[in-house]
Parts: sequence; C-alpha cells; structure tokens
Amino acid sequence: MRAYCPRCKTERKVKREHRKETYPVKGEPVTIDANVLICSMCGTDIFNEALDSENLALAYSKYRKAKGIVDVDEITKIRKKYGLSQRGIAALLGWSPATISRYEAGAIPSIPHNEQLCRFDEDAPFLTRNAKPPQDSALPPCLPGIYRKRARQPRQRQKE
Ligand SMILES: [Zn+2]
Repeated sequence: MRAYCPRCKTERKVKREHRKETYPVKGEPVTIDANVLICSMCGTDIFNEALDSENLALAYSKYRKAKGIVDVDEITKIRKKYGLSQRGIAALLGWSPATISRYEAGAIPSIPHNEQLCRFDEDAPFLTRNAKPPQDSALPPCLPGIYRKRARQPRQRQKE
C-alpha cells in the first residue's frame, strides 16, 4: 500500500504498526493497542481515516467495558426486546427521543442513564414502579399493551 508521506513529500510505501495510543473518552484517557500506518522510509505517521475511526471505536469500546456501559448494539436490542420505538423507550425512561437516538448512533450514555438502561433490561417491575405513563396524546401506539402486560406479570417473570 502506498500513501503520501508529509515528511518525504512524496508517495511512499506504508506499513502497519501496533502501538499503544491514548485517546480521551468523555474526558478520561483510554489507552489502546492502536493500529497505525507509518512511512516505510522515514517512519512518519500517515493519517488514515478508516484506521483512525477503528482506533477510536476500540477506545470507546474499552471505556464502555471498563465502566460497565452497555454496547451500542445492546441498547437497540433492549429496546427491540420490548417492541418499543425510540420514542416509546424514551417516554418510559423519561428521556428525549433525541437522547436515545444519539445513544443508538454510538454516543456513550451517562452513568445514570446507563443504570436506567440496565435496570430496564433486567428488572421488569422497575418499569411499572418508576415510569409514569405519558399522557394519552403523547402515548406511542406500542405502550398501553406493554404497561398492562408488565403490570400483570411481575411475579411470574421473577420466577423465570
Ligand atoms: Zn516518509
């Protein structure tokens, strides 16, 4: 593979190198085994957008694991498990639809929001204990059935 080297000021052969790099994630340094491209002649770093986003994704993922924050895919899975739209789950959790949409697009949930999500996933009665049903006019079509079902079956679910 060849790419432009800013130091040699010409196209050079480039090679991959593994290197510890530290990325700031939510203001905290996260060190990962990054994949970088360097010029095979002078060793200068060659910026590569695809590798850069891979490294960033790795740092985000490591941060999530360290903090016990659910993965992007998990968030969508939790929502779909209950047959909810983004608007529906946002109403139940007391968030704005933009918030859940951001989280599903890869933004890292805040620690309290993460706890809400985990409890929502694991503890069915939490839903009926803590969420106020929205006003009828704001009620997403998927909601009433879910409220009835979960209000009726908490004990049964705990035994499973
Ligand atoms: Zn070079």
